[in-house]
Amino acid sequence: MGKPHVVVLGANFAGLAAAQKIREFARDRVDITVIDRKTYLLFVPNIGLEVLEDRNPQETMWMPLIPAMKADNLTFVVGEVMSIDVDSQVVEFNPNERPGSAMSALHYDYLVVALGAKLAYDQIRGFDAFGHTVSDTFYGNRLRHYLFHEYRGGPVAVGSARFHQGTKTQHLIPAAVAACEGPPVEVTLSMGAWLKNHNFGGPEQVTVFTPGEWIAEDAGMGVVKTLLGRASSAGFHYLNNTYDIQEITGEGIEFVNGPSVEAELKIIFPDWQPHAFMKDLPISDEVGFVVTDMTMRNPDYPNVLACGDAAAVSVPKLGMLAHLGAEAVARQVAKDVGMMPASIADRPMEPIVNCIGDMGDNEAFYISSNTWYGGKREIFRTGRIPYLLKLQYKEMFFRNKGKVPDWGMPTADILAELLGKE
Ligand SMILES: Cc1cc2nc3c(=O)[nH]c(=O)nc-3n(C[C@H](O)[C@H](O)[C@H](O)COP(=O)(O)OP(=O)(O)OC[C@H]3O[C@@H](n4cnc5c(N)ncnc54)[C@H](O)[C@@H]3O)c2cc1C
Repeated sequence: MGKPHVVVLGANFAGLAAAQKIREFARDRVDITVIDRKTYLLFVPNIGLEVLEDRNPQETMWMPLIPAMKADNLTFVVGEVMSIDVDSQVVEFNPNERPGSAMSALHYDYLVVALGAKLAYDQIRGFDAFGHTVSDTFYGNRLRHYLFHEYRGGPVAVGSARFHQGTKTQHLIPAAVAACEGPPVEVTLSMGAWLKNHNFGGPEQVTVFTPGEWIAEDAGMGVVKTLLGRASSAGFHYLNNTYDIQEITGEGIEFVNGPSVEAELKIIFPDWQPHAFMKDLPISDEVGFVVTDMTMRNPDYPNVLACGDAAAVSVPKLGMLAHLGAEAVARQVAKDVGMMPASIADRPMEPIVNCIGDMGDNEAFYISSNTWYGGKREIFRTGRIPYLLKLQYKEMFFRNKGKVPDWGMPTADILAELLGKE
């Protein structure tokens, strides 16, 4: 009998962290294979910042995966995951370095689903012709080109389409109508500064909209009200309860509910949808996110775990939750192979919204809040220190091949909280 085979699907924030943590906790008791369709990690959270600084995020926001895999003795497969059979414990994938490869299959003892989500721009009528965004380097560079070469100084609208969350984990986490509203808040504030610094007016040019009653409600109502109060005094416009985006046109955005908004530049965050092949699996909820408890284990198939955006309990779809979920996954595997006592391993993930967002002018906001999940922490700070931390986090992440030292997050929290402006 060989060692248990852990197969990790996906190697961005959640998948890479899960594989590294499983190796750290379970050591050589397991063989680990990681599958991703690309050989680099895309550092999504800083793409918007790079765009507004006129840097090509393709050059600055990718980290090679192969050295990270080698450092932890992780077998890496470049492949497109096509299907999962949880009864026979087999993953089918297509080795995608060259077209024409035959389908291949891997047997697993433990499966970690960390495939993120599909960002469904293709469901928004008019997006390709008239929409912009910052969630990957293609769209980031398209926006960069527009801003620095084509922008005529017209109004800007920023906001989200409606998120469709499954219901099977709503006894564990609240329901959200937008998948991740840190990025629209960040782009709104930093666009205000960009417009001012490029002599196109300023915040009064920007409307931020949300499908919900409150934008970024998951950051806690105290934080949201502070943010909205400051944004409104700075001149930003706010449109809520838009329900969903009906269509993007040359003139603006039409919503399912309420008035449309006029805008030359439309920066959009779409619905986060599970990948098509995840739908109708016995491990998935009705939309296709993987059902888990808060130890990130599927209740019906305990050898299937999930973390990051692919997991149903990861709401909002946030890097911090990917990080916490990956640790929880690794503790479970370590427990099963006798490397961690249940008293430690079974500590549930305690979700918290931790987020640092660019505000332009070398300043950022820092949010750390768990009130949405029933906790008491609700911290909001702004200033140069959070901005420095946003830049430094990425540097530290790349330098350590994706590993964040245990002191990294707590130190960032303390620095932001003590030295940021209230
Ligand atoms: C614009 C923007 C800004 C953000 N800013 C922040 C922020 O400031 N702070 C924060 O905490 N979070 C932020 N987030 C959220 C954060 O980026 C996500 O929560 C995080 O990327 C989730 O990580 P993940 O590994 O679960 O998924 P992903 O990052 O989506 O990774 C999924 C991986 O799976 C691979 N994959 C997918 N399908 C297949 C397949 N079929 N076969 C093979 N491989 C596959 C992909 O190649 C990818 O490597 C932001 C998101 C966006 C869009």
